[in-house]
Amino acid sequence: MQSLRFNVAQLLKQATGASRSYVLDEDIRQLTDEMSFAPLHGDIRFTRTEDGVLVTGHLQTAVDLPCRRCAATFTETITFELEEEFHAAFDVYTGLRLPPRETDEVETMIDEQHMLDLSEVIRQNVLLAVPPFPLCRPECKGLCPHCGKDLNTGPCDCQEEETDTRWSALQALLDHSGS
Ligand SMILES: [Zn+2]
Ligand SMILES: [Zn+2]
Repeated sequence: MQSLRFNVAQLLKQATGASRSYVLDEDIRQLTDEMSFAPLHGDIRFTRTEDGVLVTGHLQTAVDLPCRRCAATFTETITFELEEEFHAAFDVYTGLRLPPRETDEVETMIDEQHMLDLSEVIRQNVLLAVPPFPLCRPECKGLCPHCGKDLNTGPCDCQEEETDTRWSALQALLDHSGS
């Protein structure tokens, strides 16, 4: 995801509070092997902070997921808010390495070329926004645990048999206790 890298050298030379905006339209199919994502869209803003650049944005993508109840594949829209502060690892004027801080994390460091790389932060945010229990629709009836029929398309024939089995079990119990 090469285009998620931004040169922020000019912004780092500006005063705290200076900002610039970008429109993202990014192919993120390579985000993970497990899921297939639609292109990522949205607006992001870079704001100069005392120690670096605050990235904020509202982003949207979509992903094909199997419904946890009926197993049908459906497309889930995924939106999330981005808010992450990146820190400069090198002084923008001297090129010298700045003293590292305890809170520094490699994915939110601005590198020697003053490149801010959003790839890892975006990847984490997208994956976090994927619902852990995806449903094709809230009222999905799922599959019959006995015959596997998709109950969204109508009832199966198991219902009655199941009741019968329970009745006979109960009857057997009654018969037994009565004797
Ligand atoms: Zn479903
Ligand atoms: Zn059934």
